[in-house]
Amino acid sequence: MTTLDQIPGLGATSVADLGRLGIKTPFDLLEHYPSRYEDFSSRRLIADAQSGEVVTVAGVITSIKARPITGRKLTLIEGVITDATGSLNVIWFNQKFLLKTLQPGTRVLLSGAVEWQKRGLQMKSPAYEIQRSGESTHTGRIVPIYPLIGSLTQKRLRTAVKFVLGHPSMDWLPDEVRRREGLIDLPTALRQIHFPDNLDATEVAKKRLQFDELFLYELAHLRSREDLKKLKAPVIVEAIDEVKKFVESLPFDLTGAQRKAAWQIIQDMARSEPMNRLLEGDVGSGKTLVAAMAALNAVASGHQTAILAPTEILAEQHYRTLSRLLDVRAGRCARPGQGDHAGSPVLLTRSHGKDRLDDIANGTVKIIVGTHALLEDKVAFHKLGLVVVDEQHRFGVKQRQAMTTKSGEDIVPHLLSMTATPIPRTLALTLYGDLDISVLDEMPKGRKMIRTKLVRHDGSDAVFEEVRRELDAGRQAFFVCPLIDVSDEIEAKSVIELAESLKKGPLKEYKLAVLHGQMKSEEKQKIMQAFCDGKIDALVSTTVIEVGVDVPNATVMFVEGAERFGLAQLHQLRGRVGRSDLPSFCYLRPSGFVPEATYARLRALVECQNGFELAERDLALRGPGDVYGTVQSGFPGFKLADLFDAPMIARARNSASDLLRKDAGLVEHPEVLARLGEYVRRIHFE
Ligand code: ADP
Ligand code: MG
Repeated sequence: MTTLDQIPGLGATSVADLGRLGIKTPFDLLEHYPSRYEDFSSRRLIADAQSGEVVTVAGVITSIKARPITGRKLTLIEGVITDATGSLNVIWFNQKFLLKTLQPGTRVLLSGAVEWQKRGLQMKSPAYEIQRSGESTHTGRIVPIYPLIGSLTQKRLRTAVKFVLGHPSMDWLPDEVRRREGLIDLPTALRQIHFPDNLDATEVAKKRLQFDELFLYELAHLRSREDLKKLKAPVIVEAIDEVKKFVESLPFDLTGAQRKAAWQIIQDMARSEPMNRLLEGDVGSGKTLVAAMAALNAVASGHQTAILAPTEILAEQHYRTLSRLLDVRAGRCARPGQGDHAGSPVLLTRSHGKDRLDDIANGTVKIIVGTHALLEDKVAFHKLGLVVVDEQHRFGVKQRQAMTTKSGEDIVPHLLSMTATPIPRTLALTLYGDLDISVLDEMPKGRKMIRTKLVRHDGSDAVFEEVRRELDAGRQAFFVCPLIDVSDEIEAKSVIELAESLKKGPLKEYKLAVLHGQMKSEEKQKIMQAFCDGKIDALVSTTVIEVGVDVPNATVMFVEGAERFGLAQLHQLRGRVGRSDLPSFCYLRPSGFVPEATYARLRALVECQNGFELAERDLALRGPGDVYGTVQSGFPGFKLADLFDAPMIARARNSASDLLRKDAGLVEHPEVLARLGEYVRRIHFE
């Protein structure tokens, strides 16, 4: 079985929807892990079922009928299930098709909560499954709950996953490594993560799958590092004077950390060994400015700099920031033959035409800002000396080479990666090596604490009073909608709804605009521009603004449905304000009633302003039932792995380097090589 459409029950629409989740092969499907489980494993005879329990009963449907509820758009489906010991009433809402599926006489399994009602014990909206020989899939066991999209349903996914699990599969991890690490084999791990025998088994399975992710990451990284050693980068002479003049032209002083980082980068670029430096700094620490200094240094000797952002909005934003910072310097950077405005950045998006490509290819422009569009074949550079990637953890040797094919065979540009993700020391060491990390551990002077408040869902009047006070003072606000689904349509709907309710209610007199994934990119850019120019008071959006957006005049961040976000992500969102010396505010409002424990988790944000500390707290607060580890870290290929599990990272690294020491080309380990190839392709490591 090699393709998804060979799986029974998956039609073209399902296959397309899976594709949107990045699932292209049956094996990918096995890596679509459940986000949680429902425990339906407690089976009961009907006579033994107790109120307040979640149980599974097996029996025959003895009656089923529909009853409309007057005055409400509801249809109640009332059924009775009977086994040898008794009968139980069952109700469902609005699922008329059940009249057909569960006709009297059908043998079924029902899983759900049992409660006392006026007419006796009752099961409300249980999961159901027709009894067949063999083990059950949707009831009577611990059942996986998957992230969904489009036409996909839990049942369809479970059935598909189970079908794939039924096919023989291989373990690619060398036995020696597996035994030394005390890990279970891969087929067992995959089976137990999807259809666990018990919750402890998921933990054991998770260990194996986490190790795989880290081991593959380390292998890919070590190999790409070896490749990099064989290459050379242009020697870029230090342009200390240029950079100094630029710094003097700034309206503020550099932080000590910025000064040090810039100096390290400039020295790296003066060597022929390709730079591979990570610039790590919490949101608002001023990474872009450091990138600007690095770019200026490269441009001073006639080299190009390419700056890659993960989204068009961010590319646009970097472009604007850099233009503002560097334009005044353009004349001074230009050298004879470089064109008039060699130092001014240009933006390259997919919509730009040939003229701009020509300017890039002949070296008329020196600083090019864009998205992954910059990696396309048709973009040719002229003396590309530096690549800066923002918030991307997936830029490898092959990508560097791809960008320079025109300028020389084995000359690659220097690489500076920037991130606000707090990468733990152990991981940073393997990723970048000890000397290649610059940390901006110092905030620009004058920054105030962002006052963070938890808002009870029903008590937000006073809060809107505060928001209006800010807007009246000429400041601006972000409103972020809850994370609902991976689907753009539904997200767009929630953005529009929130905007409407604000327009009708508390923000009647203000200029609002919306921003979401369904809008065209020009439209998005227009809105962002208008917001930057202060023509919009409040921007209602999805998390498209999560990383990097820099509008210092915005002082209010209001997150709706805050309980649905991870702490790290909320911290990123909060980092969109507090970017000047103005006092700023962050409001976190849950989407409805939430348990006290949820407030407790959100309270960490009230108490703590440091991204690193928050990431650690987040992890400590996560329970054993939470399957996902570091999805929000933005690390590709890490679905389960825990970035803070220092011992496991170290072990994965040692095992990987051990294996490569013995068998650098992995010729004796073709299964590992094949798995690695797949992995690297999937995460665009190279
Ligand atoms: P991030 O690290 O989140 O990318 P930015 O580079 O976007 O941060 O910088 C945040 C804001 O702080 C920007 O408006 C930038 O102009 C400003 N800034 C950067 N460095 C300093 C500094 N040393 N002093 C004052 N403001 C600064
Ligand atoms: Mg930034």
